[in-house]
Amino acid sequence: MRLRNIPGSREVIAESEFVIHDMEETRGKWADVFGNDHPIYIEVGMGKGRFITQLAIENPDKNFIGIEKYSSVLLRAIEKREELSDLTNLYFLRMDAEDLEKVFAPGEVQGIYLNFSDPWPKDRHAKRRLPSKEFLARYDRILVPEGKVEFKTDNKDLFDFALEQAKEANWDLEACTFDLHHNEEMMQGNIMTEYEERFSSQGNPICKMIISREKR
Ligand code: SAM
Repeated sequence: MRLRNIPGSREVIAESEFVIHDMEETRGKWADVFGNDHPIYIEVGMGKGRFITQLAIENPDKNFIGIEKYSSVLLRAIEKREELSDLTNLYFLRMDAEDLEKVFAPGEVQGIYLNFSDPWPKDRHAKRRLPSKEFLARYDRILVPEGKVEFKTDNKDLFDFALEQAKEANWDLEACTFDLHHNEEMMQGNIMTEYEERFSSQGNPICKMIISREKR
């Protein structure tokens, strides 16, 4: 998702109290930012932030961080976040997820959500796909040992790629469906993302996998 450049979005982000600006100094100190040691969950490539914002509303005993690389998209998430000023468990980061390890210390993250990640269809761009083994290695280094990565998409090629990459990188497949919206068990508590709503309303089945490396 890349919205038209919105004039002033960088300035709004720079001044937002909901965006962490001194990211690298915060590494290993996220409990101080939230003022508690509740587990931290991140969404990588959150887009306009509907999913992570709803998760934060529903789970006040957990902390959430939404990560997005484009200012114009993040701006939309901030606008919604501003209407929820009582919410204390949600912050945003404007960054490229390639730098996750500069921002999170080993074991600082409890769980990672990837929703409708960009497919990067050309083979030479495979490393940029968020469920690639290069990204799994980054996730491996910031997650707690029992941490999970949850990935949803309607893009079957990307999903097949993600399944292969997880296997190659020796992650365990804990759950998997090629039709989430007709899988009663995996649908429990499902929060729709913006893209999920759009593609499922067009009749596209949604795939979901949950992986961990607990049994390693
Ligand atoms: N997760 C949202 C949803 O399901 O509605 C948005 C999906 S959109 C297709 C993917 C988003 O991921 C885009 O907003 C894009 O800018 C962001 N993104 C892609 N690669 C990223 C990266 N390396 N770091 C941070 N954000 C990234």
